[in-house]
Amino acid sequence: MPGQVVLEYSYLLSAIMFVIGLKLQSHPETARKGNFWAASGMILPMITTLILNRNGAGEAIGMGNVIAILLIIAAGTVVGSIMARKVKMTAMPQMVSFFNATGGAASAAVALIEYTKNPDQAVLVGLLGLVVGSIAFSGSMIAYGKLDGKVGDIFAKFMTYVNLLFMAVIVAVILLVLFGGFDAQTRTYLVFGLLVISLVYGVSFVMPIGGADMPVVISLLNSLTGIAAAMAGFIYQNEAMILGGILVGAAGTILTLQMCKAMNRSLINVIIGSFGGGGASHADVQGSIKEITLTDAAVLLSYSQKVVIIPGYGLAVAQAQHIAHELDSLLGSKGVEVKYAIHPVAGRMPGHMNVLLAEADVPYEQLVEMDDINPDMPNVDVAIVVGANDVVNPAAYDDPGSPIYGMPIIDAHLAKNIIIMKRGMGKGYAGIENFLFFNDKTRMLFGDAKGTMTKLVSEIKSM
Ligand code: NDP
Repeated sequence: MPGQVVLEYSYLLSAIMFVIGLKLQSHPETARKGNFWAASGMILPMITTLILNRNGAGEAIGMGNVIAILLIIAAGTVVGSIMARKVKMTAMPQMVSFFNATGGAASAAVALIEYTKNPDQAVLVGLLGLVVGSIAFSGSMIAYGKLDGKVGDIFAKFMTYVNLLFMAVIVAVILLVLFGGFDAQTRTYLVFGLLVISLVYGVSFVMPIGGADMPVVISLLNSLTGIAAAMAGFIYQNEAMILGGILVGAAGTILTLQMCKAMNRSLINVIIGSFGGGGASHADVQGSIKEITLTDAAVLLSYSQKVVIIPGYGLAVAQAQHIAHELDSLLGSKGVEVKYAIHPVAGRMPGHMNVLLAEADVPYEQLVEMDDINPDMPNVDVAIVVGANDVVNPAAYDDPGSPIYGMPIIDAHLAKNIIIMKRGMGKGYAGIENFLFFNDKTRMLFGDAKGTMTKLVSEIKSM
């Protein structure tokens, strides 16, 4: 079989492996296998490209390029595996954003390099690859900074207009490059101008997004990187890149729409809405904070029939997933029915709670999605909120001025008793007050989630 045919079959096989990987990733139990399939699908076309010594268009790669490619693969493998090994679970969302940024940058670089090789042939797909890749790069870097707490929010309303202006300028420059009839040098200036505007737009597009809307932006940036990679694939006429990019773009788009649904927002509202802050303040609070002792909490839980654990970002910070599983098994052995209520945007990345609890071997049947658990919340004896805040904030229902107004929440407030485990009165990601903490049925169990739960488990054991 001629080399080119083998190469193309390897691209097809790689696309099939991506699809299998995606399918397996849709369930926590098979997600690891899914990652393996997808990674293997990524490696396969690299190997065939190098062995057969030809690119997608059938041209020989050349020994110098083969060495450069091998060196770059080696450097990427070393850096990637060191980062992945060293990263703390709580810093995973930042790392994912950072990796996403590098994907965008790579696609933008492909588009730019191919343009400079042949400035007389500026093509729409190349310019779009440059724009989308640059926006994905700078936007993801800002998302990384925000998730890491290094970059704050800008909530100025005028940012909406600035962003619309940037979009209009980007479209105008693309049209000028394609149809302006300029000489190669002027066109090159315009293309570099396009690069700069796109990078700045990525920053100004993500900066104002606050409140609790970051999940939508993160998945949107992810899909942009996929689209940019597909564009780069079109430039190289490389089916593996096109298919891989389209799959990432499509999966990211589906996730974006799901996140929008989870936040009860329209995509347009998130992208050009630029809001955050606001909502009720401490001065508006009625009721007071009431604490519970470990002993009382242990008694309350042990004599309950139905307990629901609502995990949030604080559970991830405290790494309390293993002890949470110990608590649920212990209560289970006493005949208490324990379920976990999973909010789609709890934590700092899509599926964060599923990943953590799967890591602690919590049986998947115990994880119940928000829409399925909410109707049963009035029958729940105790809702234990572990390091969650925004995802149980009733302001989503009853404070129209709140930045999370309209976002679906886990109805912890409907349970018969509510125990909140957190370190103090710190706010959640949206930075707003939570009246649930002042509810008559609520008792606070202050402290680091892992430490508190460890003591609670010992207390229940000693009963
Ligand atoms: P929140 O961010 O609303 O609240 C987390 C709470 O955990 C804080 O109030 C904090 O209070 C507490 N906490 C922190 N550390 C500990 C600890 N060691 N032990 C116990 N408690 C601790 O979390 P939620 O999961 O409820 O909500 C997620 C928020 O993040 C939403 O607004 C969502 O939109 C946003 N977001 C989600 C993303 C995603 O993809 N899932 C991405 C980006 C943002 P205290 O300091 O008092 O302990």
